[in-house]
Amino acid sequence: MFDYLIVGAGFAGSVLAERLANGSDKKVLICDKRPHIAGNAFDFYNDEGILIHKYGPHIFHTNSREVFDYLSRFTGWREYQHRVLASVDGMLLPMPINLDTINKLYGLNLTSFEVEEFFASLAEKVDVIRTSEDVVVSKVGRELYEKFFRNYTRKQWGLDPSELDASVTSRVPTRTNRDDRYFTDSFQAMPKHGFTRMFEKILDHPNIKIMLNCDYREIVNQFAFKEMIYTGPIDAFFDYRYGKLPYRSLEFKHETHDVEQFQIAPVVNYPNEQAFTRITEFKYLTGQEHKKTSIVYEFPQATGDPYYPIPRKENADIYAKYKTLADACSNVHFVGRLATYKYYNMDQIVAQALMTYSKIVGMKRKEATAKIKTGEKVFVSTHSISKSNGNGVSVATSSS
Ligand code: FAD
Ligand code: UDP
Repeated sequence: MFDYLIVGAGFAGSVLAERLANGSDKKVLICDKRPHIAGNAFDFYNDEGILIHKYGPHIFHTNSREVFDYLSRFTGWREYQHRVLASVDGMLLPMPINLDTINKLYGLNLTSFEVEEFFASLAEKVDVIRTSEDVVVSKVGRELYEKFFRNYTRKQWGLDPSELDASVTSRVPTRTNRDDRYFTDSFQAMPKHGFTRMFEKILDHPNIKIMLNCDYREIVNQFAFKEMIYTGPIDAFFDYRYGKLPYRSLEFKHETHDVEQFQIAPVVNYPNEQAFTRITEFKYLTGQEHKKTSIVYEFPQATGDPYYPIPRKENADIYAKYKTLADACSNVHFVGRLATYKYYNMDQIVAQALMTYSKIVGMKRKEATAKIKTGEKVFVSTHSISKSNGNGVSVATSSS
């Protein structure tokens, strides 16, 4: 008899498995339909012996000491500040747009103060910032928007920036200084031996059983458990009752080249005519030394594995309907990027999982975090309530 069946061994599922098993002595069965743990953060050594990220570049950054300290129990870190160049007008220019981007692009020699005035002279007046187009044109005007954002966004999302929530392009700031880092978070580092190794440590507990190549629907009626944590797509859980929630997909084209360095930056963005959005060279991220180098191209797609929830009102409305169903399933917890339909980074998912744990054990998040530090166990009773997940599958198969 398991206390929890956890669907999905990415950040959401694995952090909850660890907390419940290690923090509360619960017996956990975690399954993933993929042949590996770590979800989209999965990395592995390819045939050439180069550490690569199967599902595109994953760079860890957070402002949360709590999240960083939590993960630090399972990995050492390699300090890493991410940098990106954008291929525009035949040049490779710092992205996010900063003082050097403007000076190189236009052959100018502006100061920080002058570039601020320059942006102000280009900016379009937008009364209410609603869309991803508004965000950029209201800051830097239409020309820079078209060079750096419009086509990249159209490729990435299959939508014009004017059809996407402001939150999407708001992820990328505009700078008047020369800071060329992609992120400015207080903690920026990569797991010293990779993400997968970190997940192995997170899941290494006698109370945690792992089943891979296993869709939960194949086992849901075979094992007894009291509660479920579900981290897959929420629309699939409810058998698409309100229609499909759009998730954007990607095709990854991995290559290894017989040169030490392929490009001059960890990531080069291609905001223009190419079908792909960016090329990542992994050795920059991992610090690995190797005489060859591995890269990945990202080709956005409408169909395929779900990677990105698409932030726009129509989709939020569909999600709200599914959330009402989810809220009615008192012994199923919906956590993670796909189950809560949130465009969250890894650290936000860890925080969401820690928050879910504190709710399960009925504690304030800070109290629950303090227990992680002391290693003190938090006991919680799980109730076995037979529930339907909406498509006839009973998720609680035994009484406590
Ligand atoms: P996932 O990692 O998607 O895990 C969910 C798991 O559930 C999957 O492994 C899936 O196989 C499994 N599953 C689904 N349905 C079932 C089922 N029916 N039965 C069994 N298993 C099932 N974040 C950052 O912080 N920095 C980055 O640089 C970054 N780069 C990214 C680049 C790309 C291309 C993508 C797509 C995402 C990136 N992210 C990044 C976001 C990051 O991947 C997510 O925040 C994080 O992986 C979400 O974790 P999760 O556990 O919610 O979901
Ligand atoms: N973006 C863009 N041009 C760029 C980089 C980003 O238009 O060179 C937009 C695009 O819509 C993208 C969003 O900003 O989806 C967020 O970028 P981020 O790098 O955070 O995307 P992610 O790493 O999550 O794919």
